[in-house]
Amino acid sequence: MKKILFVSSEAHPFIKTGGLGDVAGSLPKALAELGQEVRLILPNYKAIKTFGELHFLSSLRVDNMSVNIFETQLPDSNVKVWLIDQPEYFGLAGNPYLDEAGNDWSNNAERFALFCRITVEIAMDRAHLNWRADIVHCNDWQTGLVPALLSFEQNRPASVFTIHNLAYQGLFPANKFYSLNLPGRLWYPDGVEFHGMLSFIKGGLVYADRITTVSHTYAQEIQTPELGYNLDGLLTYRNNSLFGIINGIDTDQWNPATDNYIAEHYDVNSIDKKAVNKASLQQRLGLPVDDSIPVFGLISRLVEQKGIDLLLDYLPELFAMPVQFALLGSGDHAFENQLQALAAAYPEKLSVTIGYNEGLAHSIEAGADIFLMPSRFEPCGMNQMYSQRYGTIPIVRQTGGLADTVQDALPETIANHTASGVVFNEANPGSLFEAIKRALLLYQNKDAWRKLQVQGMSKDFSWQQSAKQYLSLYEGI
Ligand code: ADP
Repeated sequence: MKKILFVSSEAHPFIKTGGLGDVAGSLPKALAELGQEVRLILPNYKAIKTFGELHFLSSLRVDNMSVNIFETQLPDSNVKVWLIDQPEYFGLAGNPYLDEAGNDWSNNAERFALFCRITVEIAMDRAHLNWRADIVHCNDWQTGLVPALLSFEQNRPASVFTIHNLAYQGLFPANKFYSLNLPGRLWYPDGVEFHGMLSFIKGGLVYADRITTVSHTYAQEIQTPELGYNLDGLLTYRNNSLFGIINGIDTDQWNPATDNYIAEHYDVNSIDKKAVNKASLQQRLGLPVDDSIPVFGLISRLVEQKGIDLLLDYLPELFAMPVQFALLGSGDHAFENQLQALAAAYPEKLSVTIGYNEGLAHSIEAGADIFLMPSRFEPCGMNQMYSQRYGTIPIVRQTGGLADTVQDALPETIANHTASGVVFNEANPGSLFEAIKRALLLYQNKDAWRKLQVQGMSKDFSWQQSAKQYLSLYEGI
């Protein structure tokens, strides 16, 4: 049995802005189910939702700041959650990374440096909690200073650093390094210095005992100049300690047989009932209710990474065909505005909902026929897995976790029951358009379509497999 301190800047259902939140809500639970003693540590943001009781555990002083630690429980698990309470840093309205106006918190470096220092104190059992970690599992740049600071400790726990998205690195001007009072021995190009800047993520990439990322393909891609953000050299150097472990999904929350958000429950033996969900979605979104028209779904942060612009280019051309689109997301205002303008011009073809809406996300997964993920890069991606589980055929680009979880529909893969989606190669509008046309053709072939649905719905995307891989990684350190 290992004592695992899981360190994250977000975790579902307390607070979530993206895939990291899903992982941090699920993996600790799956590890606990494998008999491990897991603690999850999060900042106590104002926006955090708590479930059940929250009690005071301890307080400590770090960097001339006094910090309280509260304890609560991760729902439906025996994972204890430690919330780091510092109202000046975490007590204001906004999300974990952005203030209410949508700008990066101006003190993000200070906020997450404090979070890292507290984590080290807890991991080393210096926070009066009478608990010492064997493994400290850090996630993304917000936790990057933890392995760096731990490296100075005697008899320290082992550290693992997981990259959920290398595009976000926590880069700050060099003067922050000094104002944060970090040990001078970290300020080297083979430490946390990155071209004259302070790089939080390098704290993880340089000093963690093991590095993981969330798919095999992404683990390879980040070692190339194209997706390595100038960290590909370092990652190649650490290649022997770098592993890809695909994320699971929460199969209780994302289960069409029990999902309370959707109009009609169904499973692999009753896929026809998906039509009820389609009609309900069309009605809800004000699209003509017609089972014969294929409905495309998309749920995403509206940013360039997700290939939204690839789709925008061809949408008007696609509208010449009998198709409907149900889009949900928020992000770059330029994308939001263009999509909303198109929706206003083609109300019978396109519904656009700007915002974050868990319930609608489930209804789109259940009601759409086809799901779009034309990402330029995608470390793992979640929605392509949800889609397969809901019998909604994903169209994905051949990258990262998308490449690892969706099998392209070719004559042989359809025949041998392995196909579960449509995969395209190039990140350009023409290739996406070709993939969409290919999916529309397949959609006409009821027999082949059903095979794809059955294959997707039969796959095991649960966390158990991935949690076992993490456990054997911990055991190997
Ligand atoms: P990323 O972490 O890059 O945003 P992922 O696909 O890994 O992408 O995870 C995104 C998660 O957030 C998924 O669970 C997805 O359904 C959810 N999500 C994204 N945007 C929205 C939205 N507007 N409404 C509801 N859920 C959303």
